[in-house]
Amino acid sequence: MARYKDAVCRLCRREGMKLFLKGSKCFSDKCPVEKRNFAPGQHGKDRKAKIVGYGLQLREKQKTKRIYFTQEGQFRNYFEKAARAKGVTGEMLLQQLERRLDNVVYRLGFALSRRQARQLVRHGHVHVDGRKVNIPSYEVDIGEEIAIRESSRKLPILEQAKDFASHQNAPNWLNIDRDNYQGRLVALPKREDIQLPVNEQLIVELYSK
Ligand code: SF4
Repeated sequence: MARYKDAVCRLCRREGMKLFLKGSKCFSDKCPVEKRNFAPGQHGKDRKAKIVGYGLQLREKQKTKRIYFTQEGQFRNYFEKAARAKGVTGEMLLQQLERRLDNVVYRLGFALSRRQARQLVRHGHVHVDGRKVNIPSYEVDIGEEIAIRESSRKLPILEQAKDFASHQNAPNWLNIDRDNYQGRLVALPKREDIQLPVNEQLIVELYSK
């Protein structure tokens, strides 16, 4: 399946909430969810029916997939791995998504959105334990050090992200050295550490049918 290339703001409007996919625009009054909080398209305004059952489960899965920018097959693989793991399946699913390298770069405050973090990884600006890793889905392990390549530390987007992150609470499962653009995963994130408007149980129900 081709990656979604249409305006990402439509995804937020489709879900009826901010998914924070665009960086600084998401925090400004230019955010389309602030201005037009109805589904995109000609009949978007008319879609008012309450979603229940399968529809609700499907929307929850789509929303989560979009937050982490994963594709259907990859998302399904995450679920199957979570279902085999020891623990609550929904929590294991979110934990795996959180451990993606692009997400960790975002959580470390080196990017303003997961999309921006993915680009940093793809373009080779990110090192894991001193080695370049350009795979956004790379699963970060406890103890691994994530750092922005020294020659990339002058990128303007890093400065903007650092400025923004300095006003935010850092996740307690990460150890962050913002001045040196370095961080380390010190624990696996628990459900209460993952502040997302997602009901993962609905996704488990959807895939368990
Ligand atoms: Fe979503 Fe951000 Fe676009 Fe607002 S600006 S609709 S939060 S991606």
